[in-house]
Amino acid sequence: MENDNTVRGDMPVEDFKKFGYQFIDWISDYLANMKDYPVLAQINPGDVKNKLPKSPPVNNESMQDILKDVNNIIMPGMTHWNHPGFMAYFNSSASGPGILAELLSGAFNINGMNWKSCPSATELEEVVVDWLRQMLKLPENFWGIIYDGGSASTMHAIAAAREFKQELEIRTKGMSGRSEVPRLRLYKSEHGHSSIDKGAITLGLGIECIKIIECDEEFKMIPSKLEEAIIKDIKEGWLPFCTVATVGTTSTTSIDPVEEISEICRRHNLWLHIDASHAGSAAIVPEYNYILNGCEKADSFVVNPHKWMFMPIDISTFFTPHKEIVKRTFSLVHEYLKTEQDNEVTNFMDYGIQLGRRFRSLKLWFVIRYFGTEGIINILREHLRLGKLFAQWIDNDPAFERLAPVPLSTVCFRAIPNFETDINKFNENLLNEINKTGIIFLSHTKLNGRFTIRLVVSHIKSNEELVINAFKVIKDKYNQLNSGGNE
Ligand SMILES: *Cc1c(COP(=O)(O)O)cnc(C)c1O
Repeated sequence: MENDNTVRGDMPVEDFKKFGYQFIDWISDYLANMKDYPVLAQINPGDVKNKLPKSPPVNNESMQDILKDVNNIIMPGMTHWNHPGFMAYFNSSASGPGILAELLSGAFNINGMNWKSCPSATELEEVVVDWLRQMLKLPENFWGIIYDGGSASTMHAIAAAREFKQELEIRTKGMSGRSEVPRLRLYKSEHGHSSIDKGAITLGLGIECIKIIECDEEFKMIPSKLEEAIIKDIKEGWLPFCTVATVGTTSTTSIDPVEEISEICRRHNLWLHIDASHAGSAAIVPEYNYILNGCEKADSFVVNPHKWMFMPIDISTFFTPHKEIVKRTFSLVHEYLKTEQDNEVTNFMDYGIQLGRRFRSLKLWFVIRYFGTEGIINILREHLRLGKLFAQWIDNDPAFERLAPVPLSTVCFRAIPNFETDINKFNENLLNEINKTGIIFLSHTKLNGRFTIRLVVSHIKSNEELVINAFKVIKDKYNQLNSGGNE
């Protein structure tokens, strides 16, 4: 079928099978031989674009040619998130059953806007999101929904928190040009995620609506500072409406004291949202469930299974005991979307900005069933052990200094050069040298002005050998930079 512009209709089923098998072989080899690729793309900006045609092909092209270009153009520009050496940011590793679920989801291609549009998608989502709630030991009255990511979940939480102040009539009248609406105030810690600010921008609250609360030396929000800020704001005419506390902050995975924060929120009638996008998964491990202490008193809670539960991006789960408030915030049912079952079923389009929704619950279902809760616990428990083991090696080596506690499996540290130099610059160079090896990929943060290297153990294939090897790469590069400095 080369250059056959008479082609009409979809790919013939025989071809789909042929290329489908070929693709599965390709993907299997890729997953098995990941170590042969550099984790971090070793290319320059523009390198991928320069190999791509500027305009679309007029004539049809063969699948062979497309696959050839995946190898020649796409692969060199890939940063391999599914590489076991990917220990940067918060890793997202996709397991086999998760990948297969995505394939099936593509084939079904449903739009789960309401129950009728795909009853299985709606009911599976209701059931498996509740499975996850049970795994996290969140209260029974927490209802859940899937959004695409943590940022979306948090934006929905802030919207619901604002709707909770129903007397302001913001849903109908908006916020601008209304002198009777006080300025709303939202609280987060210095280490709260930027998605909170983006949510505030999107909802027209403005960046100034966010009050940043100081953290203690362990990077946790200081509850007394929160209460002081609320009281001061009320005096000055602000209307405090929401606090976002974090379980597992982005830099250090610090855990805000949710129990105390929840009491303050209750005293002042604020909505409490918990951002546990990354760390929430760790609470599935019984001896780590305590990280969610106090979260049973929250008004909403987010965890992203795509971060540390081995599902392909994207799936974020949002829980709240206030299903009706979320509905009140977002429900808008035009005539063509009304169905006979509206009184008996959940129509997920009523609980968010998305009308069309893809079949994300399939991957949650596949992964939980394939591993079982015990299987998932065992993998997570090993990650938590390995993170602490790596932290010990850092602590025991005078070449390094740990810069934050390790409540989970993320380790923040820096190297100490043995010659006179700018220590931040030295660590920045060290990180670049480490990442250039292609064996591992680490990322950085700044803690109290210090350039901080971060290593996260959360890949489904993480094991002790990989972590030993990561330490060896770091130490080798450290030694090289030191000898360079002494020459
Ligand atoms: C990853 C993360 C987010 C953002 O999640 P996305 O799915 O990337 O939008 C927010 N908060 C925390 C603490 C995170 O770890």
